[in-house]
Amino acid sequence: MKLIMLGPPGAGKGSQAKIISKEYNIPHISTGDMFRNALRNETPMGLKAKSFMDKGELVPDEVVNGLVEERLQNEDCLNGYVLDGYPRTVNQAEALTMILDKNNQSIDYVISIDTSDKTVIKRLTGRRTCSNCGAIYHIDNNPPEVEGVCNFCQHDVIQRDDDKEDTVRNRLEVYKEQTQPLINYYKDLNLLVEIDGEKDLSDVFANIQEILEASE
Ligand code: AMP
Repeated sequence: MKLIMLGPPGAGKGSQAKIISKEYNIPHISTGDMFRNALRNETPMGLKAKSFMDKGELVPDEVVNGLVEERLQNEDCLNGYVLDGYPRTVNQAEALTMILDKNNQSIDYVISIDTSDKTVIKRLTGRRTCSNCGAIYHIDNNPPEVEGVCNFCQHDVIQRDDDKEDTVRNRLEVYKEQTQPLINYYKDLNLLVEIDGEKDLSDVFANIQEILEASE
């Protein structure tokens, strides 16, 4: 099964992708996580991506497309994958179609998670992330057991620079301008399914599961 998660930042794409990955035993491919790992390891690509990420802007298409093409060659992708945060522009969607065509593959579903600006801002500005293992917390409904310390690896839990309010607002603008057009792009290809992202995590997953299992 090959899936794309679409939706604004903070819609819950990453959380849903993690559950789908576990439930269906397919890799979760998050370009944002790939850039954050590259940055932690101070690779040239990570350092290049940082300047864009800190401002809430998109890393140039050619960098992201190359990264994803390489990742999809891995053996663990043979049975499918769930893409989270890619594609994010029409150029990336076209590049992905070309990569898939080359391998005689196609996407099964594009799951678009609809979420209001208000919800996105509340979720993202309250989100906290472990600086080491990437575990996600929220100041209101899922704080770490000890403030500022990760429950799993005991490293610092921090606010990502791009989760600060000004950057979140910019990320939303970037989403509307550059990523939202993909909704029609995939609607035209008959691949789009729309899910209400205002519900809680387990209800959203139940809706996704209904769609995936109805097709089996
Ligand atoms: P995310 O964790 O998916 O919100 O991604 C964090 C940041 O990484 C984004 O704000 C972008 O700067 C960068 N990024 C992740 N995926 C992409 C992509 N497909 N195209 C361009 N930039 C990306």
